Amino acid sequence: MMRYALAAAATLVSAASGAQSFEASCDALAPAADIQVSYAPAAAQLDESRGARDITPDPKRDDSFRHLGVTHATLLRDVDVRLAGFSDERTGRACAWPKVTLQLTVRPLLVELARELGANECMRNHVFQHEMQHVAIYNAAVARSAAKLQQEMRAYFNERQLFGDEGRLMRDVRTQINERWLARLDALIVESEPEHEALDAAEEGQAYVVCGGALSQLVKAME
Ligand SMILES: [Zn+2]
Repeated sequence: MMRYALAAAATLVSAASGAQSFEASCDALAPAADIQVSYAPAAAQLDESRGARDITPDPKRDDSFRHLGVTHATLLRDVDVRLAGFSDERTGRACAWPKVTLQLTVRPLLVELARELGANECMRNHVFQHEMQHVAIYNAAVARSAAKLQQEMRAYFNERQLFGDEGRLMRDVRTQINERWLARLDALIVESEPEHEALDAAEEGQAYVVCGGALSQLVKAME
């Protein structure tokens, strides 16, 4: 019997054989998976180099001011899976609990403001503040989703001690994370979409009156 800690490279760490049976050793394992999901929110970078006509708006948003400012967010997911448990040298069977670390970072988190806004500080500030609200909604949504995902993954994995062919356990956990849990993360983040929509709906009304109508004139001039 070997106690092992499997990293992604599936390194076997041997230890002295115990006197216990495989089954007894499995039963004696600390009864819990170790699941950590974290999100490191980022400060937005600013790009004011492109003209309104060259800015690609977010297709999900539908307002006439969308070419003047847009926020791009790409979420990176760094997954580390290890297993802690026992393998039976005789049969190749293993029992283990997964240790999963999922680190989320956003890179880049980029706010683009149309170059034309530089002509009027009031317009630029207005659109900048609007995009920063999208950034705040995004960061809060991912942080909330990460906490929820961690809770759901713990509930799921804590009910299932991994048991089976040693080589397959690691692959199965990784496949499950890629196919099931990262998809669940995307679904949780999408739940914040109504907040973005509400922000844009409010903006539709404001944009015509702020800055003495300058923003409204700029949009008209572009049509
Ligand atoms: Zn918007």
